[in-house]
Amino acid sequence: MKPVLPGATVGVLGSGQLGRMFAIAARRMGYRVHTFSPDADTPTGQVADLEVIAPYDDLDAVRRFASAVSVVTFEFENVPAPTARAAAEHAPVRPKGEVLHTTQHRIREKTFLADAGLPLTPFRTVLNSDDLARAVADLGCPSILKTADFGYDGKGQVRVTSPEQAGAAWSSIGRVPAVLEVFIAFEKEVSVVAARGADGAYVDWGVIENRHSNHILDISIAPASVPDAVACHARELTRAVLEALDVVGVLCVEFFVEPGGRLLINEVAPRPHNSGHLTFDASVTSQFEQQLRAVCGLPLGSTELLRPAAMANLLGDVWKNGEPNWLAALAYPDVKLHLYGKLAPRPGRKMGHLTALAPDSNLALSRVLSTRNTLVA
Ligand code: AMP
Repeated sequence: MKPVLPGATVGVLGSGQLGRMFAIAARRMGYRVHTFSPDADTPTGQVADLEVIAPYDDLDAVRRFASAVSVVTFEFENVPAPTARAAAEHAPVRPKGEVLHTTQHRIREKTFLADAGLPLTPFRTVLNSDDLARAVADLGCPSILKTADFGYDGKGQVRVTSPEQAGAAWSSIGRVPAVLEVFIAFEKEVSVVAARGADGAYVDWGVIENRHSNHILDISIAPASVPDAVACHARELTRAVLEALDVVGVLCVEFFVEPGGRLLINEVAPRPHNSGHLTFDASVTSQFEQQLRAVCGLPLGSTELLRPAAMANLLGDVWKNGEPNWLAALAYPDVKLHLYGKLAPRPGRKMGHLTALAPDSNLALSRVLSTRNTLVA
């Protein structure tokens, strides 16, 4: 494929905040952006040149959408496989549909990673009651049962505390195909966001430390405070994932770091990731610009971190006392505010984030936390 140069139109399947930040990066470089999703007035649509509103299974609409752009990418991995295939009839889809197919389903993703020899949380596939009983006997308790389909931010997950409770746990997630995973008493969670170009070039932003609250990412800190050997290994494993999947685009690998430094892959997302949002303000090239560069067949940009940074998500909960105090937060000169243009601030819904820059990551963390506190004060 010839490089897709500035002035061309790129298409994004999906219309959330990841598409919005991608569109901002693309428009800054002179591209036009079309977005496709079933919703109107979306975070991506608000900054795109064109917002196409149609269901993902309206394959004729998908084909029309793809015919009007030079390359198609996506901003969430639950785009159905037939949608990606229909788009690919008219424009290159990057990363390719097979990457979506593998990573949008936990059984396929974990089987793929295990077959590639990569270290991951021990798991068993659960399709029926016998599988469940065997899995609990093999892995013990506590363990976590996760639905195979459409899992993110802890949705479709339940703790299994004893063999007797396992059946009820599976019923609570609808007795659908699932994986049972060992519960990992991790020391830290980290991620590596990386990109691979059409020519196989590889870059990453180093290791980012993540803290979750109620299974939803709350804070990311770069650089992560992990020993060099752990950081090096995480980056090597991430490179192996991108190469094994033959990704052209951005992909994030989330890891558990066990006491002693052993790394286990928790999850893979074949797109920019919430933990990489801080690259927008803190790196020479953001994960969003890099996605654009990779899917357009351009040279990749530098991932150098200009200053240590910390990101704090703003969930709908920040609106619990009414409109947040934006002026107080904006009084912090080294903190950047990002809002996604979502209309209804429901609890747990990602509405925006703050990124603080500082001479060291501990200071960045305390700055971002105090800024977020002033929003609700
Ligand atoms: P997930 O949606 O699978 O990434 O899970 C969301 C969060 O739940 C993770 O980032 C962890 O904080 C926690 N979690 C998920 N799986 C496990 C596990 N096997 N052991 C311990 N904590 C887990």
